[in-house]
Amino acid sequence: MVPIRLAIVGLGKIAKDQHLAAIEAIEGVELVAVASRNASLESVASFHDISELLASDLQIDAVSLCTPPQGRFALAKAALDAGKHVMLEKPPGATISEVLALDAQAEAKGLSLFSTWHSRAAAAVEPARVLLAERTIRKVHVEWKEDVRHWHPGQDWIWEPGGLGVFDPGINALSIVTRIMPESFHLVRSELSFPENRAAPIAASLAFETASGLPVTAEFDWRQTGPQTWDIRVETDEGPVVLTHGGSRLSVDGKDQIVEEDREYRNLYKHFVSLVGERRRDADFSPLIHVADAFMLGRRQVVEAFDD
Ligand code: NAP
Repeated sequence: MVPIRLAIVGLGKIAKDQHLAAIEAIEGVELVAVASRNASLESVASFHDISELLASDLQIDAVSLCTPPQGRFALAKAALDAGKHVMLEKPPGATISEVLALDAQAEAKGLSLFSTWHSRAAAAVEPARVLLAERTIRKVHVEWKEDVRHWHPGQDWIWEPGGLGVFDPGINALSIVTRIMPESFHLVRSELSFPENRAAPIAASLAFETASGLPVTAEFDWRQTGPQTWDIRVETDEGPVVLTHGGSRLSVDGKDQIVEEDREYRNLYKHFVSLVGERRRDADFSPLIHVADAFMLGRRQVVEAFDD
């Protein structure tokens, strides 16, 4: 199989932490370029931005967009206009309408668009989904609490409109819950805590209901120091099904089932290779829709200023 010739756009934290190693580790994709205003790689062609990349005579088949969500639409549109397949970091964009427009454009051009949710590719998610399809669920509770200073040092974009604030990690939890739940759910209450000097929330308390009336609650907080919490607890008639460590570990009825090393990004790129091979799209925007609802229905309270 001829590997997909891929360019990364936005060589920042996640591209360096995860994408480069994942691309190196799997077959079917080869990194041939990066486009980043302030970073480059010696091993491949480096361009200042996507316009320079697309105007060059370097042959590429696909781009992987690792920039912040604000501004991602213009980059994805430029890539699709140029006939390239596109892989989007999460969240896929800054608005619902822009990501729907990208999906429609990809469909019209017969190109692959992959709206990734890395947490969905964690080891415990698929086993939990299969198990929950067979069980009677009573309620779901999510605790997603981390230290923003540790995980997002100096990232100004994350506090700007469209950066999502605490929903930047919180959307990862929603990407798992939307995957493992056998039925859909919708938001009924949202309380958002905005630092007085920031345009995005630092904490959120959410309540959803499934179509059959079951409660799904979530607490997101960026002020947690010490041990970090990325847990989803599903109470079922037979006992609790609990995902911890961001979906990489699973406990069923009090017994540990899965403790596995992180393979999320390798799984994402394998899936992208198969999507491109079959000219298919994978664009489930439901986690972003829930976040948009949380802003739309959100009761806002102002809390202490936050400084990095
Ligand atoms: P980051 O460290 O700020 O890197 C993003 C890169 O995009 C920057 O280094 C920058 O490179 C480029 N860029 C282009 N336009 C930009 C703009 N207007 N403002 C800031 N940077 C811009 O961010 P990141 O943590 O890698 O996050 C990127 C995406 O990955 C986000 O959607 C995030 O949710 C997702 N993600 C992050 C993590 C994580 O742990 N950090 C985990 C999973 C997913 P140049 O200046 O060189 O152009």
